[in-house]
Amino acid sequence: MEERGSPDGDPARSLEQGPEGPGTPIQVVLRVRPMSAAELRRGEQSALHCSGTRTLQVSPPGGGPDVAFRFGAVLDGARTQEDVFRACGVRRLGELALRGFSCTVFTFGQTGSGKTYTLTGPPPQGEGVPVPPNLAGIMQRTFAWLLDRVRHLGAPVTLRASYLEIYNEQVRDLLSLGAPRPLPVRWNKTQGFYVEQLRVVEFRSLGALMELMQMANHIPLPLRTSRPFQLVEGLSRRRSSAHSLNQASSRSHALLTLYISCQTMPPVDPGEPPVGGKLCFVDLAGSEKVAATGSRGELMLEANSINRSLLALGHCISLLLDPQRKQSHIPFRDSKLTKLLADSLGGHGVTLMVACVSPSVQCLPETLSTLRYASRAQRVTTRPQAPKSPMAKQPQRLEMEIRQLREENRCLRSQLGQVHPKASGLSGARVAWAQRNLYGMLQEFMLENERLRKEKSQLQSSRDQARDEQRVLAQQVHELERPCRPSAPAPAVTCAPCAEHRWPTGPAHTGGSSCRRCLALRPRVAWLCLPSPHPGHPHAILTLPSSRERGVIATGLGPESWRRC
Ligand code: ADP
Ligand code: MG
Repeated sequence: MEERGSPDGDPARSLEQGPEGPGTPIQVVLRVRPMSAAELRRGEQSALHCSGTRTLQVSPPGGGPDVAFRFGAVLDGARTQEDVFRACGVRRLGELALRGFSCTVFTFGQTGSGKTYTLTGPPPQGEGVPVPPNLAGIMQRTFAWLLDRVRHLGAPVTLRASYLEIYNEQVRDLLSLGAPRPLPVRWNKTQGFYVEQLRVVEFRSLGALMELMQMANHIPLPLRTSRPFQLVEGLSRRRSSAHSLNQASSRSHALLTLYISCQTMPPVDPGEPPVGGKLCFVDLAGSEKVAATGSRGELMLEANSINRSLLALGHCISLLLDPQRKQSHIPFRDSKLTKLLADSLGGHGVTLMVACVSPSVQCLPETLSTLRYASRAQRVTTRPQAPKSPMAKQPQRLEMEIRQLREENRCLRSQLGQVHPKASGLSGARVAWAQRNLYGMLQEFMLENERLRKEKSQLQSSRDQARDEQRVLAQQVHELERPCRPSAPAPAVTCAPCAEHRWPTGPAHTGGSSCRRCLALRPRVAWLCLPSPHPGHPHAILTLPSSRERGVIATGLGPESWRRC
């Protein structure tokens, strides 16, 4: 028996081991839907058999050996929606999205194979008739789980959603306020590919989102109202048509993205500011053989554009499998779908693919093509990375420094390891010698430290002393520069004739008194002066009397030399 696919791949378990690393493979879960009423009516046989939980056997109709395919999980037609939700490990994806990762769940398979059913449940049986909770798809279950998780997290969570479809190679905003018009897909370094002017709606409660999700995307309801569009209207606006294989066949690829941001979300690294994650659900339109579906006119055009974009997706997946090509160019630009899935396939996202197949022998060629496609996809790896907030971004220099320090640490550790007798295998004598050396170095460092500490305190005390001296000097300079003032105590002036008696100067002592020794009269003029070495000194400075003192100036002034002091 020929066997294809990956031998290991429980998606829940492998994601438990942590998404970041050299490469995380795209997780693939295979779901085989039950035979439909129409297939049973036509008496079609099943060509698929599940053996175990991870292997699918395909029996060729004309006989011959079975072909086996292995996936992360294989779910037969008897599995419930809850079983599928659990087996896919979507809760784990939700946790990762809460931690800031960009996660994608996409369904893939032939038209009518159960992709939309798996993601959103069956179409409602009428307007306003809710889908029974047990039939709710992966999306509703994820929302419910997320709501519960957020409640227990006890942190303010901002939840926003965008919803778009790629119809005939045009991106249309299903939540746009006006009539949906084609939006451009752009690229920049930080965001990668993104849709310009895409409307993002904030939801205050996930319950509201779940309620809206009760309506499936099968009802063509291009209603235009003046009030803002709700998500349900976005869902109902998605293009769908009836053909022989599916009464409500999606005619476009639909991408519903939840943007989760939380103030106190579990940080990626301790101390890191919180960042936002993404959870994207992609419901691909199914590949179809126009001859089998009987599509004509517009339906045929739609089918062609669906097939073309799926072909581009398959081509990218094939190239991503080639390690050499992966380093070079992957033609993500070939279609809008591959542009918008570029990060999920070859970038930093965490991706889960749910491949859906019909068990009928009539669908076998398409089923085999889906199985091969899915087998290849599970060998594609991504490098999941939680986006860093701009605040957390380290400048390149710091990162380099951290790298250098790590390297230094590593070297030191290995040196220490060499000193350890068991780790190094050194003889006891050599170890003792090495330890003595280390001890000696340590002592030297301690002595050096002590010496430096003393030197530092000496320098500090001499600095303080110098400051004190500077203060005293500054005071003295100030005193010296201060001019004599009337109110200040008058300095004594020596009597010129006898050079003995000292006259006090200033207005309070003007005139009247005589020298006690030579009886010379003191002049009646009060000269204000700066202290000088002695009268008559060539450098004696004369200062003019103030205006008040000018009033007491009289005639009969004393000798010229007396004007000096
Ligand atoms: P696709 O999106 O792949 O074109 P759908 O999800 O619309 O296909 O499914 C086609 C039909 O098959 C729908 O009527 C759907 O209700 C039914 N169906 C698909 N999967 C299942 C399943 N697992 N159990 C019951 N009915 C299913
Ligand atoms: Mg569908």
